[in-house]
This record gives sequence, structure tokens and C-alpha cells, in this order.
Amino acid sequence: MIAFGHSSVGTLVGIGTYYWLPDAWPLIPRLLIAFILGIISHYAADAVPHGHYNFDPKHLTRQAVSVFIIDFFGAIMILSLLALLKFGISDGFWFVLAGIAGAQAPDIAEGFVDLGYIKSSNVVIKHRRFHFEKTHRKTPEHVALPSGARMWTWTDIWQVLVFAIAVVTLAQS
Ligand SMILES: [Zn+2]
Ligand SMILES: [Zn+2]
Repeated sequence: MIAFGHSSVGTLVGIGTYYWLPDAWPLIPRLLIAFILGIISHYAADAVPHGHYNFDPKHLTRQAVSVFIIDFFGAIMILSLLALLKFGISDGFWFVLAGIAGAQAPDIAEGFVDLGYIKSSNVVIKHRRFHFEKTHRKTPEHVALPSGARMWTWTDIWQVLVFAIAVVTLAQS
């Protein structure tokens, strides 16, 4: 998946959780639920066949870094700005951020492993196997490109569609 797709799914998870859970519940546990559902949404989205851009965390080119920054921070900036316009600094805004944070957490964790910030352990290895092999079994990664993963094709339009749905949802007052 590209980061855009995960951030968009996370946004919808955040909004959904915000409207679904009773307002009377304390905020922090509700945000935690949005975060956890965001994490689950990551694996669910990874299980849908999808492509990636050419991106190797161990041999970063300048171009890959620019694409990655636009993909990761670009979508988060657009979506959180729209959330801010819709909700202001209120609960709904934090729900969107919690959903996005959860939806990005698994890939951020893998990035930290590759960069050496997270030391390899049994849990790390098991998680990677689950994340990269189990959820990706319909999109065999680390095969098609020298850097791994399958390159984008037109079938990946669904990732763009989810972003459009998230934008439209946030644009409604
Ligand atoms: Zn993937
Ligand atoms: Zn992933």
C-alpha cells in the first residue's frame, strides 16, 4: 500500500468511531479504540491486492524520499486540515488523528525496524511475517521489483478512491 491509502482508511475509521461510540464515554478510551481499529484497518487494507511505488528502505534514492514525503505527510496534512475545518479543535478532530496514527503504526514500526530503532526480536519477526506474508498473500511482495513489492497498476485506483471518499466525507459540514 501507499501511505495515502492507509491514511484515508484511517480517517474513515476515526470518523466512524467518533459517531459510533457514545459521547458519554471518556475521551481517552474512545480515542484508544479509534487507534486500535486504525491498526486493524492497516492489515485489512494490506490484504486487498495493491501496488507500491519503487521504494527500498535500505537504499533510499532522492526521488524515493520525495515521493515518500509527499505520500506520507502530504495526505496526512490534507486530511488533518480538512478534519480541522470540519470539527475545529474538538473531539472529532482527535478521532481522525487517532485513526490515521493507528492506520500508519504497523508500517512506521517496520520502518523503525529497518532503520535499527527497534531491535529485532521474536515478536518483531513474527509481526513481519504476519504483516508482509500473511496479509500480503494476494500481493506477493519483495518479488516483482528489485526493491520488493509489486509496482502500481490501474487496479490500484481503489487506493485513490478511498482518499477521495475520505476527502468528500470530511468536506461535509
Ligand atoms: Zn503492501
Ligand atoms: Zn503494511
